[in-house]
Amino acid sequence: MSYDLTGDIAVVTGGTRGIGRAITEQLAASGATVVANYYSNEEAARETEELLAEYDADSRVMQFDVSDVDDVIDAFAEIRSAVGTPTILVNNAGILEQDTLDCTTEDCWDSVVDVNLKGTFLCSREALGPMRDAETGAIVNISSVARENGAEGLGGYAATKGGQVSLTKVMAKEHGPYGIRTNAIAPGLIETDIWKGADGDGMLADDEEVVRENWAEQSPLGRVGYPEDVASVAAFLVSEEAAYVNGEVITVDGGTNL
Ligand code: NAP
Repeated sequence: MSYDLTGDIAVVTGGTRGIGRAITEQLAASGATVVANYYSNEEAARETEELLAEYDADSRVMQFDVSDVDDVIDAFAEIRSAVGTPTILVNNAGILEQDTLDCTTEDCWDSVVDVNLKGTFLCSREALGPMRDAETGAIVNISSVARENGAEGLGGYAATKGGQVSLTKVMAKEHGPYGIRTNAIAPGLIETDIWKGADGDGMLADDEEVVRENWAEQSPLGRVGYPEDVASVAAFLVSEEAAYVNGEVITVDGGTNL
């Protein structure tokens, strides 16, 4: 299903790979002008730029680090002057580090918290002021089922995903009165690079087919999740069709965590 987002300006953090890329494409296909943020993967950024060019001349990719306050402030200032005031923000950028808590280094903890949670705060802060002035806006935070399912080996990650849900509810209450809706999506296992690990040592590093089959067996629907499964829900949440949905968390896991 396609929603009418004509006239909207959307910022999608981590919008050039995986779930973010699918959201970028879905919003662009629905008529929004999209700024797809990325951090370091230039190849994925180029591919996304080519994709966006098919939809809208003002859409673009933009490099910045969501965990760096100066980078975020500068990026949103540039977006406002070059593209316009964002009416949609999808806080999707995220990283994952796998280790039990007793083996989690301070550096690992800090990097996950900085990107996933502080990044959500910094980008939301930059978006909320102008949205409040315009009395309109929609924000979607990409959390995870790890926020509440006791995901072993993902302590720091799970804590950030729970924190994003808390922020979602705070923003929904604080900024709802100004016409800004904030919701979250909690995906289950979605097949993306995040499971390959930063050093190629993640769950999908080897025996990909076996891992995929295991994942599929856990799901009542008998398959893994794909980025598009999340993107269609994000498009709904930022659309007028979700005009009375605020402060919700929608799980997209095929029923795996029931
Ligand atoms: P992914 O394929 O690894 O993509 C991550 C994206 O985040 C990339 O575009 C990356 O940019 C960007 N990013 C990372 N650090 C950044 C930073 N400091 N500043 C700006 N951008 C940064 O991951 P994914 O699986 O699509 O995950 C997207 C979101 O969904 C994350 O929040 C994740 O926690 C959540 N999620 C994923 C799953 C799943 O199973 N895949 C399940 C639940 C929730 P570069 O391309 O430049 O590196």
